[in-house]
Amino acid sequence: MRSSLRDEKRNIISQGKKALPYLLIALSIAIYSCAHPARPRGPQATGIYHIVTRGLTLWRIARAYGVDLEKLAEVNGIEDPTLIKTGQRLFIPGATRVLEIEPYRPPITLTAGFIWPVKGRVTSSYGRRKGELHTGIDIGAPRGENVVAARDGMVIYSGKGFSGYGNMIMIEHENDIVTLYAHNASNLVKTNQRVKQGELIAKVGSSGNARGAHLHFEIRVGNNPVNPLLYLTDVKK
Ligand SMILES: [Zn+2]
Repeated sequence: MRSSLRDEKRNIISQGKKALPYLLIALSIAIYSCAHPARPRGPQATGIYHIVTRGLTLWRIARAYGVDLEKLAEVNGIEDPTLIKTGQRLFIPGATRVLEIEPYRPPITLTAGFIWPVKGRVTSSYGRRKGELHTGIDIGAPRGENVVAARDGMVIYSGKGFSGYGNMIMIEHENDIVTLYAHNASNLVKTNQRVKQGELIAKVGSSGNARGAHLHFEIRVGNNPVNPLLYLTDVKK
């Protein structure tokens, strides 16, 4: 009786010893994730840091490391996937070494050749709005109206992981030119899908941080937003 009790005690102690390293890891992850908003969140804490250099975009980095764009943004506390800065430290979950990533080469002049993604009136233009930069234009249109791709390209994001944007689509065109379509009622294309100019990609809505049904539309050259009105035409290229 006595010896079995002692055995039991010994057993409990040895189990405690075995569990200790896991407890310490769990604890250090918990502390780590609370310390800074840019620190990785969630259970996957293995990875490396990549310093953003000139000419890199979040989607370029995501693609190079084979990490989902939304996940990369989430673990780094990034709410706008098109806004990253040179010098910023990005945690790359699952990566074991820092990769060299080819920077984009911005075109000297961005030519027209984008068609209107939805027919409607511009209800809010590009530029400063209440002290903040409105990085695109808002096009008023009834809920459920068709949203089409402004130009041929590849869907690099389709989802609702960036809460302010609601249901959002990003399409990459040549030379790291990206168009962005936000507040959709529904997205009709998937990430990594090729689309043609004029192809139906979404329905107009008011998801995310939007007042009334409209499309928030952006054109970006790398990380830099440009005024879409300068590049939109009615004619397909
Ligand atoms: Zn907007």
